[in-house]
Amino acid sequence: MLKYDIATTHRVLAATKASRLSGGSFRRHDDIEISYAEGAYAIKCRACGARWRAVEELPGFDGINFERLTEESGVCQRPKR
Ligand SMILES: [Zn+2]
Repeated sequence: MLKYDIATTHRVLAATKASRLSGGSFRRHDDIEISYAEGAYAIKCRACGARWRAVEELPGFDGINFERLTEESGVCQRPKR
């Protein structure tokens, strides 16, 4: 289980960026926010409401990977800028 502290928060943040850059979970979602509740880091896209949970997984991204909690719509609803 990922503990809640500054170092781990930075690891989770870095992992979301690494995942996006590699075409992972967040490649279509660029307005994400991270929170911590009930013993887990939660990631949410503000634009479309998609949610993930950070899990410890090797290799992952520095040992962190993401588990999708909401249905994959395939496309973020955020309007193109
Ligand atoms: Zn989205």
